[in-house]
Amino acid sequence: MDTKRPTRSGKGRGNNSFNRNKKSGGGGNRDRRGSGGGRSNHNYIPLPADQMVHEGVPLKTVEYKSETKFADWKLNPKLKSAIKAAGWAYPTEIQEKSFEHINALKDVMGIATTGTGKTGAFLIPIIDALLDSEQPFQTLVLAPTRELALQIEDEFRALTLGMKFNAITLIGGRNINTDIVNLRKRSYHLVVATPGRLKDLYQQGKIDLQEASVLVLDEFDRMLDMGFQKDVMFLADKIGERDQTLLFSATLDRSQQKLIDHFLTDYATVAVSSGQASAEHINQTVRFVEPDNKFDELISLMQEPELKRVLIFAETKHRVKKVTKKLQQAGISADEIHGNKSQNYRQKALNNFKAGKIKALCATDVAARGLDIDDITHVINFEAPTDYDTYIHRVGRTGRAGKGGEAITFYDK
Ligand code: AMP
Repeated sequence: MDTKRPTRSGKGRGNNSFNRNKKSGGGGNRDRRGSGGGRSNHNYIPLPADQMVHEGVPLKTVEYKSETKFADWKLNPKLKSAIKAAGWAYPTEIQEKSFEHINALKDVMGIATTGTGKTGAFLIPIIDALLDSEQPFQTLVLAPTRELALQIEDEFRALTLGMKFNAITLIGGRNINTDIVNLRKRSYHLVVATPGRLKDLYQQGKIDLQEASVLVLDEFDRMLDMGFQKDVMFLADKIGERDQTLLFSATLDRSQQKLIDHFLTDYATVAVSSGQASAEHINQTVRFVEPDNKFDELISLMQEPELKRVLIFAETKHRVKKVTKKLQQAGISADEIHGNKSQNYRQKALNNFKAGKIKALCATDVAARGLDIDDITHVINFEAPTDYDTYIHRVGRTGRAGKGGEAITFYDK
């Protein structure tokens, strides 16, 4: 792969500063107006078991062997050191295939799930540009969940180790006044936000969205699923003209096309077939259980010794709460993450789960979206999901990094 940096001209990212006047910044004249369709929430009608497990192992495990090493890439030496310190030697497929486009300031649509290294795919070229640019510029990343937003910030910090770049994460469940104080303190090279909190801050006049010249929409399909379409459009319109927009989505749904055209201009599509979150090496089974016996079945299953680190999904916050309580009452260490828990609580539960202090983490789809946890031995769908995409995301939490994993789905008899 040719890693030579294309000349940055035309769109002029290099001319940007935090307070630049974008209209005179050489940013082109992109029409961002228009509207598009979205997806609505659904009632609980579980997927048919056979369709879910047998027909679909949709993500093929294509082991991707990069022919280049980061050490051979033409990157700023400081960034190379940080990548090395993170323990990354070879780029993942999405990183390799999107680099030149992003580096050339092209808009990109990346079709990639969590686990493919998509965060690094956009952070590496952006950090490289920050290091080489005389004027600082700001990247705004919109992510559907608080956990994903925090993971993006963590990865940015790891990849900018020893560099003087500022990052801030703006998410719900934390004190907004702290955000306001922090926003006043300094300018930020990276702003990661969930749409709701960012809109709130904008409407209170606490953040100038015009500062951002690069917009990243992460897990775009999930943002739509979660009903963030209007907020994302609102925020993107407030940013207005920008040098680059990068959109990452796990799925490419035809109904998204109109919206995608609204956000992206003359874009490159990079779809990857490899991923650590693949269903191929995950053993998927279904258990038909009497509705009255569901909790007992779960408890006896959880007592089996091979179930070491188990992520359990239920459809609603209320059900997640109930499952957690039942497990705890049976003496099984468990905690819960869902929208009714504060960010602090969720982060603590997540850390305890990652550290092996609790055996089971019970979650709603929304709360578990984008979680990057290694060594989850089992995923249990206490309730079967209602759509295929969700099923794949759930089971993909196990079997990461090519390891085996088990996914067990409960069905009412
Ligand atoms: P993501 O898909 O961005 O959520 O990344 C999934 C995981 O892969 C994260 O833990 C990253 O730190 C890790 N990762 C990303 N890129 C690489 C790479 N090139 N080599 C090794 N690990 C990576």
